Amino acid sequence: MIYVNYHSHSTYCDGKGSLEDYVTEALKQNLTVLGFSSHAPLPFPNDWTMKKSALKAYLTEAAQLKKKYRDRIELYTGLEIDYISGLMAPSDPFYASLDLDFIIGSVHVLKDTSTGEYPGIDYTDKDMDQLLAGSFDGDSRRLVRTYYSRVRSMIQKGGFTFLGHMDVVKKTNINSKYFDEHEPWYYEEILHTLDAVQSAGIMMEVNTGNSRWQGIESIYPSPWIIKLCREREIPLVLNSDAHLPGRLTVHFDRALEILKDAGYRETMVLREGEWRPEKLE
Ligand SMILES: [Zn+2]
Ligand SMILES: [Zn+2]
Repeated sequence: MIYVNYHSHSTYCDGKGSLEDYVTEALKQNLTVLGFSSHAPLPFPNDWTMKKSALKAYLTEAAQLKKKYRDRIELYTGLEIDYISGLMAPSDPFYASLDLDFIIGSVHVLKDTSTGEYPGIDYTDKDMDQLLAGSFDGDSRRLVRTYYSRVRSMIQKGGFTFLGHMDVVKKTNINSKYFDEHEPWYYEEILHTLDAVQSAGIMMEVNTGNSRWQGIESIYPSPWIIKLCREREIPLVLNSDAHLPGRLTVHFDRALEILKDAGYRETMVLREGEWRPEKLE
């Protein structure tokens, strides 16, 4: 079993550690492949994505590291790009012009129509509460349904390599604070979204979720959704969404058990410039 990870955040965005710190740590943990995936700049001020002015330096530094370490590890340069309705999408032609090795398509924010701000759906209760009050009349079901409908719009538009943390809207839903994952309407949203993934023929990631691990429910998507992915033969990529170099393979062992339980025998890896299935041991 080789460990790979295509989802890592450095000091270019909201992570800790330089790109080279990640490479050093990846070598220490015997990774054969590492992907950089800073949050792409947003068209409004925020404290969690790369600044537009830093994009060139990011691409240059990543290219230099690729050369420097080419005999020791395969490095790939990507971006995690947001889909924000009416503002930006991974399918925007600008991103294709960057000649990236891979792109993660993710939805992290929705618009608070009362203030024009974009609070995170995967950040804090405060952001969720702001969104609920500002745009959804306190109706968390409507918020969650809007999240999934945005994910489906992003899938339809395409422009990315794999879907990031499909059900990340549950991040603050500790003890079902905002919604119940077992309600029929939620199941329906998941099925519709998996339909979209399947008909687009794209890969999804299994994301072991950085710092807020609260047991198996903190894996994205939830184990019951991974089972539905298996039924549909949706190819999966295993990632940790590391925001610290030391968390490059965090909870991978547990995630592999969940994948095997669901019937997966392989995950997708990008090696020697191509995506291909790699057997799970
Ligand atoms: Zn993300
Ligand atoms: Zn991420």
